[in-house]
Amino acid sequence: MAQVVVLVEQAGDGVAKPSLELLTLARRLGEPVAVLFADPDRAAALAPTLGEYGATAVLSASGPDFEDYLVGPKVDALAQVVAHRQPAAVLVSSGLEGKEIAARLAVRTESGLITDAVDVRAGEDGPETTQSVFAGNWSVTATVTHGTPIITVKPNAVAPEPAPASPQVEPLEVTVADTSKGARITATEPKRSSGRPELTEAAVVVSGGRGTGGDFSEVEALADALGGAVGASRAAVDSGWYPHSYQVGQTGKTVSPQLYVAAGISGAIQHRAGMQTSKAIVAVNKDPEAPIFALADLGVVGDLHTVLPAVADEVAKRK
Ligand code: FAD
Repeated sequence: MAQVVVLVEQAGDGVAKPSLELLTLARRLGEPVAVLFADPDRAAALAPTLGEYGATAVLSASGPDFEDYLVGPKVDALAQVVAHRQPAAVLVSSGLEGKEIAARLAVRTESGLITDAVDVRAGEDGPETTQSVFAGNWSVTATVTHGTPIITVKPNAVAPEPAPASPQVEPLEVTVADTSKGARITATEPKRSSGRPELTEAAVVVSGGRGTGGDFSEVEALADALGGAVGASRAAVDSGWYPHSYQVGQTGKTVSPQLYVAAGISGAIQHRAGMQTSKAIVAVNKDPEAPIFALADLGVVGDLHTVLPAVADEVAKRK
């Protein structure tokens, strides 16, 4: 059976959820082979999780080359894996680093690249992907016609499904070219932690828009009551009320939580593009004609400054 290479990302002490989604998709194409950059102890600690989601082998590279430089050495490692294993595809998560790695890998291996897929499956001519374009109004089906298909997949494209395997960890010896060490990391600073779950991985997301008037404290309080993450519309981000990394939508993040609460958000098509696959959508808006209500499973017509604190209080009482 063909092998499918999955680039694994780590989150805290574990494997990032988008990587488990990639393993789930990779199984549709062949045998998943996980590639990660971690020291041997950490690789051994992560291997059972990767195995639980179907990785048949875990290839791990470590050392200063991977810690001290930007993506160059990782691209070298993946290019060598592609050369040795001739996989049916390489799947990478559609983050900033993932897309840069995928683009460089495609150039290096003279392969076709598909970015931001929301589905991957086996097709007649190799892996077939779906991309959602024009704010979710059109779906494009594509296949790679040259080289090894390199595919970046958006987080939350699929729910991770376990399929237990027992992978061995194999150390990956990589020859890193001098030209791959063109940009060195000079300092890293941990992000100020909010203690909330990562936006794209959270089961509950409470997002605020222009209707908050710039005060996100009620949005944050409800997110905390529900154990969720905070999101924001572009209007809120552009107004400087919340950082861009929390923006949901076409030019922000795509989320697909169990529960999405849109507070003071009108429901513009570009916002919907990032949240319309949420399992349950609750909208709080004082305008009964707001387009978000057409998408919502539950709509509350009211002032979010009254509704959100009331819901947060009620949730707290039931805890
Ligand atoms: P508004 O549209 O101004 O809506 C505010 C809503 O709050 C209104 O419905 C109002 O009734 C309600 N409201 C006001 N006060 C209260 C209150 N006290 N209580 C309850 N409700 C209240 N947008 C995104 O969100 N994400 C993107 O990624 C994105 N990408 C874009 C890309 C492009 C190329 C373009 C052109 C636009 C993009 N936009 C994006 C912008 C998008 O078109 C909208 O402008 C934006 O989503 C509007 O944000 P909003 O809903 O917060 O603001």
